[in-house]
Amino acid sequence: MITPSELQERINRLPRARLVNLPTPLENMPRLTKLLDGPRLWVKREDCTGLAFGGNKERKAEFALGEALSKKADVVIAVGPVQSNTARAIAAGARKLGLKAILVLTGEKPDNYDGNLLLNSLFGAEIRFLAGEPPNLDKVRFMEEIAADLRRKAHVPYIIPAGASYPSGAIAYVNAFLELVTQVRDRGFKISHVIHAAGSGGTQAGLVLGNKVLGSEVKIWGICAEPGIKDQLVKETVEIARGAAQLLDLNEPVTSNDVVLNEDYVGEAYEKPTPEALKAIKLVAQTEGILLDPIYTGRAMAGLIDLVEQGHLKRDDNVVFFHTGGTPTLFPYRKELFEQS
Ligand SMILES: *Cc1c(COP(=O)(O)O)cnc(C)c1O
Repeated sequence: MITPSELQERINRLPRARLVNLPTPLENMPRLTKLLDGPRLWVKREDCTGLAFGGNKERKAEFALGEALSKKADVVIAVGPVQSNTARAIAAGARKLGLKAILVLTGEKPDNYDGNLLLNSLFGAEIRFLAGEPPNLDKVRFMEEIAADLRRKAHVPYIIPAGASYPSGAIAYVNAFLELVTQVRDRGFKISHVIHAAGSGGTQAGLVLGNKVLGSEVKIWGICAEPGIKDQLVKETVEIARGAAQLLDLNEPVTSNDVVLNEDYVGEAYEKPTPEALKAIKLVAQTEGILLDPIYTGRAMAGLIDLVEQGHLKRDDNVVFFHTGGTPTLFPYRKELFEQS
């Protein structure tokens, strides 16, 4: 265990590009709290990071692109699905830093550009579609070929792993946990649970490491956004957390017991929002005036609501919901959202 200020000092030693507004607000959700008649609900507004609609990938981009700059990169290569929030964060952050972004998007090129894809074209990112569903290795090889080609042309490329979920990206969420601890201390209450959407593991890796190294004993629950990956994701999250610990010179052995992932709210497929997620989006919009997204935060909020109903979260608990962003994907899902109304 180390002190918050010691942890902050170690984070501050790492390469970082200043891209977002921090700390993000910690707000309470009084009307949702009342309606669910359960624990006190708080929301950490990671959607308010201020860069390109905001989100957790914007926060991670500070460390990912900081690392790229420290390696003298002039082109960054990011990967994700067609509606990738990471791609948007990197495309925007790269522009702000004067870098070029190449986005490898796994899917068919759609006829109409919408949501994140539209934004990425506004940022002038070079977009390469990789149709079909390549296994992870193919995506990696594809990015490496692009990088090799750039090197032959005297560029310095930097590849950002999927979701910016690697040790450098996860540092951003160690920092977010530290930020939260400070906000909560200033307001004089104690967090019992953190609930957030999990996709590629970097967010949870950072939060779990922060929690462990500060000895905070908060229960951190990741709600899976993609079916069938839970066991693999636990392993990857542990790996990322250990890598982040190394970057911070921490001897903190995060294990799979520290990574609590729930896949009860995931539905049939990543790109298919569940009816519960769509309902949760409307509920939060209409009680708190907050917009969630159909892929990640809608699912995580559906999970939170169910966990309250199941009695897993008690009335004297303080539960912090991490709103990790993703709001541009509301628009490509207009049909599903409209049908629900
Ligand atoms: C990527 C993403 C997540 C999941 O974060 P990981 O670090 O990939 O687990 C959650 N919410 C939104 C909106 C995201 O874009």
